[in-house]
Amino acid sequence: MYDLSNKAFLITGSTRGIGNAIARALAMAGATVGIHGRTPEKVKMACDQLSETGKRTVPVPGDFSEPEVAADTVRAFYKATGRLDGLINNAGIGKALSFRGMTLNKWRNTFSTNLEAAMIASREAYVIMREKGCGGIVNIASLAAHGPGKWMGADYAASKAGLVSITQSLAFEAAKFGIRVNAISPGMVETDMTSMLPEETKKSINIPLGRFAKPGEIADAVLFLLSDDSAYITGQVLHIDGGLWM
Ligand code: NAD
Repeated sequence: MYDLSNKAFLITGSTRGIGNAIARALAMAGATVGIHGRTPEKVKMACDQLSETGKRTVPVPGDFSEPEVAADTVRAFYKATGRLDGLINNAGIGKALSFRGMTLNKWRNTFSTNLEAAMIASREAYVIMREKGCGGIVNIASLAAHGPGKWMGADYAASKAGLVSITQSLAFEAAKFGIRVNAISPGMVETDMTSMLPEETKKSINIPLGRFAKPGEIADAVLFLLSDDSAYITGQVLHIDGGLWM
């Protein structure tokens, strides 16, 4: 549906789950994709799998529990491809954590990966995109950004609320340079992150459409938000949740 040949996109946290589905969808549309994850081994494995389809992949590993690493990741991708048409801030962690058990260390660890690394990566991408006068950023937030952290902790919910906030701040500043910034708030998606939830909890989540999303259903929306079909959309948060928020 979309032709993204000659374009290059960096997807953080793309060794598996939603990020991997986004990378696959962008690659299928012809783009060069930057595959990122914590360890070089897993990044290489994900690149090899995608390369089998004949697509160009660029491995850019980096541990975002040190947020400054995100700047190196963006620069390494840009150096390898000479382009940066889009950045998808998808890397994230989340655990069901009670408020009582929250420590400052756990809080900061979640913030480093989910929010601070995304901020650093966005800043770096923004600098590159400003020079070119175009580009798109999509942040993968969460339903938890808009209410309580019901299934993940307060650390997770607060980090995702922050991600929605920087989506809007950057969208506002970057619009005059032709750069669009949007977010997606998925509800429940079938990935490793949700597989750890007890079956009882999963069943108790009353999703109006009656099922969890497939990772590809989030990827489809990312493609739209990075394409010219959404040229007049910026600073928005798209809920993809089977009606759960409603
Ligand atoms: P996942 O656990 O399957 O994948 C997470 C990805 O992030 C992996 O590639 C992992 O390598 C990377 N990552 C995690 N910590 C990292 C670190 N310190 N440094 C570098 N990379 C790191 O998760 P997922 O379910 O695919 O989630 C992807 C994004 O979507 C996350 O931001 C998550 O919060 C968000 N989200 C997921 C759901 C869901 O139901 N699965 C719902 C709402 C939002």
